[in-house]
Amino acid sequence: MSGDKHSGRQTLYICIAIVIAIFLAVVFPAFSMNFHLGGEVFLNLLKMMVVPLVMSSVMCGILGMGDVRKLGKPGFYTIVYYFCTTVLAVVVGLVVVNVIQPGVGTVSDEAIAELKGDDAATGERIYGYLAAQIDVPKEKVADFFGSPENVEPTIGMIVENLVTSLFTDNLFTAASETNLLPLIVFSIIFAGMLTTLGENVDTLKTGIEQINHALMAFVMLLMKVAPFGIFCLVTARFGQAQAEGKLGDVFEQTGWYMMTVLSGLGIHALVTLPVIFWFFTRKNPYQFLWQMSRAVLTAFSTASSSATLPVTMECAEKEGGVSERSTNFVLPLGATINMDGTALYEAAAAIFIAQVVGMDMSLVQQLTIALTATLAAVGAAGIPEAGLVTMLIVLNAVGLPVEYVALILSVDWLLDRFRTAVNTFGDACGAAIIDTNFETVPVGGNSAGAKPDAVAR
Ligand code: ASP
Repeated sequence: MSGDKHSGRQTLYICIAIVIAIFLAVVFPAFSMNFHLGGEVFLNLLKMMVVPLVMSSVMCGILGMGDVRKLGKPGFYTIVYYFCTTVLAVVVGLVVVNVIQPGVGTVSDEAIAELKGDDAATGERIYGYLAAQIDVPKEKVADFFGSPENVEPTIGMIVENLVTSLFTDNLFTAASETNLLPLIVFSIIFAGMLTTLGENVDTLKTGIEQINHALMAFVMLLMKVAPFGIFCLVTARFGQAQAEGKLGDVFEQTGWYMMTVLSGLGIHALVTLPVIFWFFTRKNPYQFLWQMSRAVLTAFSTASSSATLPVTMECAEKEGGVSERSTNFVLPLGATINMDGTALYEAAAAIFIAQVVGMDMSLVQQLTIALTATLAAVGAAGIPEAGLVTMLIVLNAVGLPVEYVALILSVDWLLDRFRTAVNTFGDACGAAIIDTNFETVPVGGNSAGAKPDAVAR
């Protein structure tokens, strides 16, 4: 198919762009940083699409079902699927970190003494860094996640936070903060209402479908400049790291830790998810990975699964053969709540810190880490390094000192890219699996969602 060829070429261009970008960053860091502007523009163009696309696509998904009650089964299985794969990711993370033991004898005594010596300064540094990453005032980060000295978030508090984050008192605020969960909830309810209002709202329904199609067309247009946009993003960020002398340095100090997280992510993306994918769809998972490669590479380059969402949707539908209806609903939800890579990393990082501190983690403590890492990943936003913030919850839950996060700050920007890629691939696998296993009833003219080979189980 010419589409396959075209996307294959696009993937190749993106790969070449990333390789050249990293090479340039390592050799000419100062020059590379000049591409910052191009990267920013590309990222903003992607982010600009997210809110309208999520709202229109979720509404389209519900309208396509014809009745919001039909959402029950696929909706329930989507959440169960995402939850189970996140737990599996955490288990993989725990196994690799316990086997490799990257925190035993790898961090120098001086580095630890430095951390212990000045608690306040280390705390300040971490909060400053996190606040800068997630773009909110420093005090707010400290308040919300508990500072080293006070609040120890309980699992009840985490669940409470998750439940309240489902709703917003102001749709526009949620939209301006790209707070997707309440927007998804609103879109489901709104489209659900439309399905009950009969012919009176036909124009509105058609309008929503047309908006969705126009937005998808815009994403396809955007993909034409993706290789250049990705080149700019990667070379500017790697160049900055190189200029700050963080690239080589970082590998030396935290090499084992990085290797642990990367092996865990590799196992999850190349073994666990493919096995699950094959089991439920009987299709070749590696071919699917190839079909999703543009989304995976965009995730790597942007470090944001939310910003990647438009590309994920485009790839899943156009390359992966996932139905429009499944793409419309399952992927936005996945980009918001399903973060396999983040959960795996949080569990591995927590145990790494425990190993450095010399704290023996009992089975109960490891289970607590597993549970909190899963919930923390669900609560993490799909933005760069959000996982580092929610990791404080995990550390607090088992009484690990949060100031030790300072040990892994310098590599987080890089690991973030790999875990975001895994997050995105996990979302796409979910969409394909739900699509194959839960037949959605075709309604009206838009039957793009009905898969001929859908197997109802
Ligand atoms: N950057 C990740 C994402 O957008 C979240 C994280 O792990 O920090 O999916």
